[in-house]
Amino acid sequence: MDRYCVFGNPIAHSKSPDIHAAFAVQTGQQLEYTKRLAPVDGFAAAVQAFIAEGGKGANVTVPFKLEAHKLAGALTIRAQAAGAVNTLLFDEHGITGDNTDGAGLVADILVNAGAAIAGRRVLLLGAGGAARGAVLPLLEQRPRELVIANRTVATADALVRQFAALGGEGVLSACGFGDIAGSFDIVVNATSASLQAELPPIAPSVFHPGTLALDMMYGKEPTVFLTFAASHGAVPRDGLGMLVEQAAEAFLGWRGVRPQTAAILETMRQTL
Ligand code: NDP
Repeated sequence: MDRYCVFGNPIAHSKSPDIHAAFAVQTGQQLEYTKRLAPVDGFAAAVQAFIAEGGKGANVTVPFKLEAHKLAGALTIRAQAAGAVNTLLFDEHGITGDNTDGAGLVADILVNAGAAIAGRRVLLLGAGGAARGAVLPLLEQRPRELVIANRTVATADALVRQFAALGGEGVLSACGFGDIAGSFDIVVNATSASLQAELPPIAPSVFHPGTLALDMMYGKEPTVFLTFAASHGAVPRDGLGMLVEQAAEAFLGWRGVRPQTAAILETMRQTL
């Protein structure tokens, strides 16, 4: 049976084995998918050990996404652009690194939330790993404008420069939280502020009635960002759909078939 796993530290909380087990049943694929706790200083060795045991691929989560990017002998375009890898493929060519987080975000917005990105004003809060992975997939949908706002403005400015030649010219701009102008059709919180139950210091005026407000974080309770957004007329959405969709993109890369995600997302929501 083909073997896959997710590497992280910590890893006990990971929902990836449940998601991939459901994908395997739905698509009739024979595979095993487990969690692997890699030592913080032993990620590469853990990957090599898994390959030696016959592993075909792996997901990678905190804190190993940058290390996975370095370890991969080949990178997909979206992994190059993201500067981080969340999916590894092991085959006769060696280790290939991919990044499915941004594609997962876009699939969740378009398919699950039923919102358009083309021609819309999009605000991305944050400029860390998750935000960087989202920029190219968002630009590929041809938004009218994509504004990246970050606490450290220089990091957001660097993303604007990086993506200028990749569809960002005339579309992408950067600013601090206090300088965001106007309201947006979609606001994505890709900061890790929600992990500390904090709200990025944004004005309510970034929302208009019906704005899709998506927090990449997920959990049983809405985040402070989603509560704030909903109280100003936005439609709140957490990051669970993005999680399931990034997994579906990884499954597609490994198995050549993309699972139907709607029912599995619903089941995952019930188990939060
Ligand atoms: P990083 O550590 O790489 O980046 C953190 C970002 O948040 C930076 O832009 C940082 O700003 C900003 N930030 C941190 N604290 C605050 C604060 N108190 N107020 C405002 N801004 C803040 O994290 P990631 O990009 O890896 O992850 C971001 C979030 O996305 C996490 O909540 C993570 O769980 C989630 N995520 C969800 C996924 C899913 O599938 N649903 C997939 C991947 C990530 P600065 O540059 O100034 O430090």
